[in-house]
Parts: sequence; structure tokens; C-alpha cells
Amino acid sequence: MKFSKLYAPTTKEAPKDATLPSHIFLLRAGFIGQIGSGLYNFLPLAQMVINNIKNIIKEEMDEAGALEITMSMVTPAELWKQSGRYSYYGKELLRFKDRKENEFVLSPTNEESVVNIVKNNITSYKQLPLHLYQINTKFRDEARPRFGLLRGREFIMCDGYSFHASKEDMKREFDLMEKTYSNIFTRLGLNYRAVDADSGAIGGSGSKEFMVLADNGEDDILVCDNCKYAANIEAAKRKPLQTTADMPEAQMSKFYTPNLKTIDKIANFFKVDKFFTIKAVIKKAIYENDSKIVVLFVRGCDEVQEKKAQNACNAIELVDASEEDILKAGLVPGFCGPVGLKNVDFYIDSELKNAKQMICGANEKDYHIIGLNIVNFNDDRFKDLIAVKQGDICPHCGGKLHITKGIEVGHIFQLGDKYSSAMNATFLDINGKAQPFYMGCYGIGVSRLVAVIIEANHDEKGCIWNEQTSPFKLEIIISNLKDNSQVDFANQIYKNCKSLDIQTLLDDRNERFGVKMSEFELMGFPYALLIGKSLNEGNVELIERKTLNKTIIKKDEILDKLKEILCKKH
Ligand code: ATP
Ligand code: MG
Repeated sequence: MKFSKLYAPTTKEAPKDATLPSHIFLLRAGFIGQIGSGLYNFLPLAQMVINNIKNIIKEEMDEAGALEITMSMVTPAELWKQSGRYSYYGKELLRFKDRKENEFVLSPTNEESVVNIVKNNITSYKQLPLHLYQINTKFRDEARPRFGLLRGREFIMCDGYSFHASKEDMKREFDLMEKTYSNIFTRLGLNYRAVDADSGAIGGSGSKEFMVLADNGEDDILVCDNCKYAANIEAAKRKPLQTTADMPEAQMSKFYTPNLKTIDKIANFFKVDKFFTIKAVIKKAIYENDSKIVVLFVRGCDEVQEKKAQNACNAIELVDASEEDILKAGLVPGFCGPVGLKNVDFYIDSELKNAKQMICGANEKDYHIIGLNIVNFNDDRFKDLIAVKQGDICPHCGGKLHITKGIEVGHIFQLGDKYSSAMNATFLDINGKAQPFYMGCYGIGVSRLVAVIIEANHDEKGCIWNEQTSPFKLEIIISNLKDNSQVDFANQIYKNCKSLDIQTLLDDRNERFGVKMSEFELMGFPYALLIGKSLNEGNVELIERKTLNKTIIKKDEILDKLKEILCKKH
């Protein structure tokens, strides 16, 4: 393509709310334009990147036997009512009515729609398995759309849904998708990890997220330094904490602890390690139609992991409890403990089961209980509540866990029969018995990937695209448009590149050389070929964007060089 025909409105400055490199450079280099909060237009360059990503995804999904479809973005609310998610999904779901007062949603994900596609059409186990996928626009009314394409409200997702006659077959597909996604992210040139994950609002049992390791990531992931274990902090496990500190020795009793409201003060006062104290975290749990106060108990040296706590309470969301709510629930702030706690829901971290010689609030102002052994609580009080920390021990191999930041680019789920049961979608099994489908679902954030690639590869001058995803592999820059020999040679190379299928941008604009160079650096295609004065001596210059290294090459050898570096197959 010729640059004179391209539309890529570049700017010197990015808007103030753009803080991450991907957001800043994609705007400044004219790849995207913002039209509203969390709403972006993909301009020609971004569209080219998206097409490249889509092609890779499509090749791998087709290879895995999945079939491409496109589902309507507007979904009748009725289907979401059948699954129960119409009310449960919360405010991210955009609900609206048409002129006839019929209710609809803008699809944030399409489990309901796809169940509707197969329901009453797939009737026998003989027609299974089936995997349908699409690459389509999604809408989620995110509470805080931010970071450009990383968290938009409208975004592009590749979402696949598979149907199976047995759990084993669902697991087989899950493993196949793990492999397929790994191929996709490898081909996209990303440094990623597949990690154990929480299943969130989508639901189901086993799920894995694909995380690209990046300092600006919003997710905390724990990675073992010794084995392959990696997990999102929302789902991370550890070997139960142990201590070398002395265990206190006390008869269980109530102890006067005036004004000692914090774990630090209590540990100091009794001269014990915080390991032997119990911290109460009071939250307000939000449900579909009501809310209530809940208390979460963990060791004084641990923190509550919000997502785990939310799952334990089966709540849509946990929010901070106000002083008034806490008092109304009959709790004594600073002195709250699990013993004798009445009329309020509470959960205890599983690692505290059978813990000995613990100190906790006595539910009475200025009193704590000491010498407590955590027995005599119902099993269903115990839940995994803690946030695994840097340095905790790997649950599989005993290695040390490290925290790093990641950006979620994909998520695969074993759904089981959650949606098929709720929506009464069944098939006849080998014995002629009606069974709900086993399902899996799989999602890749296609538009998020555009930003992730830049988050992972940029410098202070701009984007650095890799060859797999770059809109162009090569930009030919003519230094002086008035010099016919430069123009002729550039056009000749451009033609040759075209016939070799090397996507090439010929900068034929009547712009200053400096402008052309700085735009090349900002847009960040992998290579630039400079055709300038030294053409007279038979030389051209090849610049690699990643390193900005310049190599002088004889003009007669440049085509072979370009073939060598740009024609290799993945
Ligand atoms: P997150 O935790 O980042 O909100 P999610 O768990 O809600 O993601 P899924 O429902 O699993 O996401 O969606 C599949 C993929 O879609 C994600 O892995 C992510 O790459 C992408 N995605 C989700 N929400 C957004 C968004 N608001 N903007 C861009 N991409 C998104
Ligand atoms: Mg989300």
C-alpha cells in the first residue's frame, strides 16, 4: 500500500486519561480513535492487526475441528431469564427494550444463545461432540472502562462453545483447547502462562486463564519457581502455612484487652506470633434482591482474597460495611470472633480448621478469647478465603511461589451442565435416556490482544509490532522525492515485495524525512528500508524497528536480504 492512500491520523500528544503505553501509542499512531467511554473505532491500521490476529485464531480453531458461526449481538432477554443470569449478571449486562416493549440484552457472552441454537436440533449422542465459535463484538457495561482497548465496554472476542455426551469428552475438548490456545498465543509471539482460575459469572468447574506477563497487568498471578504450577490469586492454593514461632500455652478463657483493636496490638500484648491470632474481616454481601453483613475469619498474618470470599458467600459482590451496618448486625468492631457469634453469616479459612491455641475477639467490648482450639464448627463454615502471598509454598512441589502481574487474554471453562440444565437442553444418550449436554466454553480477547502486543513490545518512541501481527512487515522510505533514481528504485522494490507477498507500505508522501522516520518509529512496523543519497554509491539502509539498528546493504542484494528475513513461514 502507498502511504499517500492510508488513513492514519497521528498526533504528538495523547489525551490525559491515556496512561499506559499501548493506549498512548495506539491513539497517537492513528490505529484507533475514541468515540465514547470504553468505545473505540478501529482505524485501518488497527483493523489490519485485528485481521492478522483473527486469521491466526481461525486457522487454529478450524484445525481443532471447531465450526465458525456468527450469533446475533442482540439477544432476547427471555433466554437470559431461562439461565437465571438476567438478574444475576449485574450492571455489566446492558438491558433494553425495543419499540414493542420486548426486552433484550446486548451480548456480553453467548452461552444462552448457543444453547438455543442446538436445543431441539441436536437430539442424539450420535450428533456429539460439536464445537461452535465466533469472532464477534461484545458489550459489557464495565464499571471502570480504562486503558484503551485493554478494558473497553465494546470489544471483540473469539468465543467458542462445545457440547458433549460425557464429562470425559468435555475434558478432552478442554485439553484440546488448552493446546489450541497455546498454539495461538505462541504464534502471536506472546510470553504467556496458562494459570488456574476462578470461574466468575460464567460459572462451571475447572477453568484456566491465559495470562500475558506484563508489568502493567491488572491480575496478580502466583508462579512456582520449581514446577509448572501457576494460578490467578483468585484461585491460588498453597501448602498450609506453618510457623516456627512458639505456640502459646493457655487455658481457653476470656481475657481483658482494653482498646486492643488491631492484630498488631494483640500480638504485641500477648507476645505471640500473628500466626496464632484470628482476624475478622467484616463485609457487606450483595445478593440479587437483598444484602447482608458477613464476617470472614483468617489468621492475623493472612489477608482475605475478595473473590474467594465472594464465592464463599455466594454473593454477586462484596462491598465495605459501614460502621452503622456493623453495629446494626450486633457486631463489636475490633473484638469480633467466631465463638458464640450469632445472627450473622460467617466463614472461617480452611487452614484454621483444628488450629490450636488461637486468640480471637470475644464479641464483647475490650475482651478477647485465648487458648481457643478451632473445633466444633460445622464443616460448611470452612472455606478457602486467603490471598496466597509471595514466598508461600507451592501446594504441589514445595517450591516457592512468586507474584507477578499478568493481563488476561484468554479463558477456558469446563461448564458441565450449568446452562443446558437450566435451559432444559437435552439429548438422548446411548440408553435412550434424556441428559443435559456437558458443555465447555472458551474465550479470547481479540481487541484486547492488540493492546497487549504493544504493552509487551514498545519503547519510548512507539509501538514495536512483531511480524505475525504487524499491519505491514516493511516500510519503504524515500528520502528525496525529487530524486528520480530514488523514486524508481523504491517503486521497483515495492513491486517485487508485492509479488513476494510481503506486506509493504511505500512512504511516497511529500513530507520531510524526519517526519517520515519519527512516524515509522511511532507506528512500529518491523523494518524500514531507507532509500537515500547513498543509492548513488549503490547502497540502501535497512532499519530494524526493535533495535533501531541500521545495516547498510548493497542495492543489488537487498531483495535477497528481504526475502531471507521476511518470507520465512511461521
Ligand atoms: P476480566 O477479568 O479482565 O474482566 P473476564 O474474566 O471478565 O475478564 P471473560 O468473560 O473470561 O473475561 O472473557 C474472555 C476474554 O475476553 C478475556 O480473557 C479478555 O481477554 C476479554 N475481555 C473481557 N472483558 C473485556 C473488556 N472489558 N475489554 C476487552 N477485552 C475483554
Ligand atoms: Mg470482566
